[in-house]
Amino acid sequence: MNDVTTARPLAEVRGIRKSFGTLEVLKGIDFEVPAGKVTALIGPSGSGKTTILRSLNALDLPDEGIVRIQDTTVDFATLRRGRHGHAVGESAREVVVLRAHSGMVFQQHNLFGHRTVLENVTEGPVLVQGHPRTEAEQEGRELLAKVGLADQADKYPDQLSGGQQQRVGIARALAQRPDLLLFDEPTSALDPELVGEVLGVMRQLADEGRTMLVVTHEMRFARDVADQVLFMDTGVVVEQGAPADVIDHPQHPRTQAFLRRVL
Ligand code: ADP
Repeated sequence: MNDVTTARPLAEVRGIRKSFGTLEVLKGIDFEVPAGKVTALIGPSGSGKTTILRSLNALDLPDEGIVRIQDTTVDFATLRRGRHGHAVGESAREVVVLRAHSGMVFQQHNLFGHRTVLENVTEGPVLVQGHPRTEAEQEGRELLAKVGLADQADKYPDQLSGGQQQRVGIARALAQRPDLLLFDEPTSALDPELVGEVLGVMRQLADEGRTMLVVTHEMRFARDVADQVLFMDTGVVVEQGAPADVIDHPQHPRTQAFLRRVL
């Protein structure tokens, strides 16, 4: 068995701080994302979970702290200082490289309505990464088959159910060939009967050994599938560890109170 504590983590977050105006949303976040494992990020609404995901792929730029994914490291305080100096080009390139390491699945799928399902999946690889279209289409069809949508490739998003649309969102993230998959509450906007098919695809990806960081309110999924659980509250990681510890035997009163509310 892999020992998550000794292998080099695929990603690391160190001392991340982020404010929106006067509101300090992340107050010094540290954690590691072990390679080939599922990390679940749980906690009350507004605790900063989405902002962490957005910091990992630099959709939000933290005020300070370091994010490393594989061999790409971005020091955000340096990046910000560089805005007014010569370091900016160098740092901005690092940000682009950092983004390329991860693929994000959003709460709302954010698919292009005027593009077919297949085009939604191939757009990034062709236009952003410059892959040949025929190759991207072949890979796109394979990814759609993987998420159970082989026969939906030529439809438009609004012809699909919410669960199918979200699975297209997963295929689209996979098409970027990311090292790290980021999921931002991918089932919270779905009707209850559609949640299972999306969680099923996520379980399959976990079984394949994908490295995943999942913001979720699905405690059963976190307990069954995650290798590591982080509980966040008011911008800090309050407790972290194996699901059997954090979810079944939480130590911190804030974790205990949260789980009493949601379980
Ligand atoms: P969670 O994912 O745990 O619900 P978020 O990271 O979405 O929490 O948000 C944390 C806090 O940051 C919330 O109070 C939210 O309103 C605030 N916030 C998030 N994004 C922005 C933004 N772009 N501008 C201002 N406030 C924001």
